[in-house]
Amino acid sequence: MTPEEFRRYGRQVVDWIADYHERIASMPVLSQVKPGDVQDALPARPPEEGEGFEGVLADLERIVLPGVTHWQHPSFFAYFPSNTSGPAILGDLLSSGLGVQGMLWATSPACTEMETRVADWMVDLLGLPAAFRGNGVIQDSASSACLVALLAAVQRTGGSAARDGIDRRHTLYVSSQTHSSLEKAARITGIGSANVRVVDVDPGTLAMDPAHLDALLTEDAAAGAVPVMVCATVGTTSTTAVDPVPAIGEVCRGHGVWLHVDAAYAGVAAVCPEFRWVNDGLAEHADSYSTNPHKWLLTNFDCTLLWLADRAPMIEALSILPEYLRNQATTSGDVIDYRDWQIPLGRRFRALKLWSVIRWYGAEGLRAHIRAGARLADALASWIAADPAFEVRDHHPFGLVCFRPRWAGLAPDEADAATLALMERLNASGDLYLTHTRVGGRVLLRLAVGGPATEERHVRAAWDRIREEAARPTA
Ligand code: PLP
Repeated sequence: MTPEEFRRYGRQVVDWIADYHERIASMPVLSQVKPGDVQDALPARPPEEGEGFEGVLADLERIVLPGVTHWQHPSFFAYFPSNTSGPAILGDLLSSGLGVQGMLWATSPACTEMETRVADWMVDLLGLPAAFRGNGVIQDSASSACLVALLAAVQRTGGSAARDGIDRRHTLYVSSQTHSSLEKAARITGIGSANVRVVDVDPGTLAMDPAHLDALLTEDAAAGAVPVMVCATVGTTSTTAVDPVPAIGEVCRGHGVWLHVDAAYAGVAAVCPEFRWVNDGLAEHADSYSTNPHKWLLTNFDCTLLWLADRAPMIEALSILPEYLRNQATTSGDVIDYRDWQIPLGRRFRALKLWSVIRWYGAEGLRAHIRAGARLADALASWIAADPAFEVRDHHPFGLVCFRPRWAGLAPDEADAATLALMERLNASGDLYLTHTRVGGRVLLRLAVGGPATEERHVRAAWDRIREEAARPTA
């Protein structure tokens, strides 16, 4: 593709994206295709000769779009939001255009130094501990961030795991509400699922019980295990429960165990002073902390920030310097080589999109976005609470509201089946998309607000639609 051709098609692509966002609300939120539809529509064999780009755009419209679930749709309320925005898309395009692979400082100093600077900006914007300055890195996901933290924590236990493999019974502490990526990290590191210890939660708040954590740590150490890491969550995936980080941190300190705080979804809310409480305990206790601008901070996937209070154990755990990567800057020790801060070697210039987002919106614009989501969630919760046919969970500090119909006259199992069937009907309609969870064995619907295109009228329409569908007699 010549620069001239690139210019021509590039303009078409940018126009296509802009048009897509303009017409997105007219499409069904959840893709309506059946398994195999998209694959069947794609040729079984690749073209022998190049075809030009017009066909790509035509097939994007004809084949790809029907198979897309529209995460940026104003009525997308499933999981957690996965925001994008104009400046993020443009920043990512610039990253692709530069085609930089920033594994070493030397392979593109700007890629490394902008990342360090932008991570420091985020320390300021979120009011994070000063110890995180200069110790931040962008990962592809919160899952990778917790894996890196776990490897560093294993290193800090003082064994020779990096050289000899795990030769002792290492244990990892989570709660029933912790994201599954922690158990996955335990499997990958060789700690194993059986050594993931599940700490009790308060049945009402679903927050981790520090006294039970203390008891498990004492019991395990007495039995010869080596407790490695505790993961506390601020804003759990299921219901946005908040673990008591200060109290958990005290327990970790008493046992000399690494504390990782996973605030994948909720951490970015700290951009607003009224949400700064999400950082409670970090300065005193957190060895590592992660949050995802790619969820609720207007930055498209992938962009997880990970900070460490002390980066040394991570570098010891992950740094290997083969001859082919040796270079003067690395051996001088004066630079950061982010390849030592992550699982893969290669890395994209992700800082560009976050830099674009922060510069475009400014701190005030980012705050306005978070506040808009939280305000809409509050409004929705108040509408649900006012309807006697529904019950709503009181806890909705961020953008997620959990609720269910009361289904008069149905036994709990039947009521759960009815709630799930209601959700299926709503999602199949294409009018909105929401997901569910279980608390105390019972099904709850989850409606997460926070997409940049979502306005009050969309949340109102979703609520009206839910009520109408719940009241509809079903066969
Ligand atoms: N931790 C929490 C609390 C989450 O809610 C999620 C995803 O929703 C994750 C971790 C995993 O995020 P990622 O997709 O970035 O790995």
